Amino acid sequence: MAVTTNSLRIAVMPGDGIGVEVTEATSFVLEKLVRRHGLGLATETLQAGAFLYQETGTAMTEETFRRAEAADAILLGAMGWPGIRYPDGTEIAPQLDLRFRLGLYAGVRPIRAIPGVPLALSDPRAAKIDMVILRESTEGLFWARGRGEMIEDREARDTMVITRATTERLARFSFRLAERRAERLRRPQKVTLVDKANVFLSMAFMRRVFAEVAAEFPGVPHANHYIDAMALDLVRRPWDFDVLPMENMFGDIISDLGAGLIGGMGYAPSADIGDNHAVFQPSHGTGPDIAGKGVANPTAMLLSAALMLDWLGTRGAGQAWSDAATELEAAVDAAFAQGLRTAEFGGVGTRDVVQAVAAQIPG
Ligand code: ATP
Ligand code: MG
Repeated sequence: MAVTTNSLRIAVMPGDGIGVEVTEATSFVLEKLVRRHGLGLATETLQAGAFLYQETGTAMTEETFRRAEAADAILLGAMGWPGIRYPDGTEIAPQLDLRFRLGLYAGVRPIRAIPGVPLALSDPRAAKIDMVILRESTEGLFWARGRGEMIEDREARDTMVITRATTERLARFSFRLAERRAERLRRPQKVTLVDKANVFLSMAFMRRVFAEVAAEFPGVPHANHYIDAMALDLVRRPWDFDVLPMENMFGDIISDLGAGLIGGMGYAPSADIGDNHAVFQPSHGTGPDIAGKGVANPTAMLLSAALMLDWLGTRGAGQAWSDAATELEAAVDAAFAQGLRTAEFGGVGTRDVVQAVAAQIPG
């Protein structure tokens, strides 16, 4: 067993509700991988979220933010709770502050059919669904989060912001991701920008900047698709798509649609990546309707942890990290291929899912 000399620090933020449950479950599997691959990994658990706000009046302290910022990666459960709100009525969402303050512009949401998991579509080609939704995560319509404008009591306005700098970075991220996937999957990967360029100036601009960056990547096929047509096609022929970058709010909506195709929120991992930082978390929220019952599906969180190991591997942590990522994903697949069923489909709870996945990892 190779022992890496690199010692990395991961900030673990369980958050609220099922965020805590799936984080605990995932830590168990991560520890096994760390031992097996000799990864130099130190974890530090940091408290933040709605319940912390309720107890202390602060959702995430400055000290906690600084510790998370200083870590090599952040593994986050989920944050927020229906009954707990800021005085102005907005949701407690310190994970959004992380996104904005750390400049995590690329919201990476892989949508992949896991063999054995019930799919929404009966067409056999649905088993081939394997795409990545790239949700721009720092601007678009969410840019003005909490800063919408009221005009007396007659009118409310939110602002859509698309900048050249962020669009160029997102475009380069998209094309590089397509190149990497093409190499790994051994088939060409097309980048399809999803927009509404026929109506909005902001999106016509986004399309133009994307086209400029596309010229830097002549080897990667590139297309544009309107969001409304994409909603239709993601139900009609989702197996035809590879890398789908889009504006923030579109990404928010389409990610849930994508998750619905492959078994639901419990199967949708995500990574929010910037140039120097990254947060890995399931696409789902804190599941107030199922929290505390031990039934939350930890698969999205396990796959998010795999994304984290892979990202650390590509950032120079060493091959052992990439191997651990591959092994974790393979363990998830193997468990489902052998008949594992999660609670959403009448199967077993969090603990049993994690045991089934861990059992696929030798050692
Ligand atoms: P957010 O505002 O963070 O998007 P939300 O209110 O949209 O949160 P989610 O937590 O994303 O809600 O959940 C949507 C639905 O999916 C809920 O019915 C929830 O119980 C279910 N769900 C979410 N995560 C899981 C999971 N890991 N396992 C099983 N069911 C889940
Ligand atoms: Mg949601």
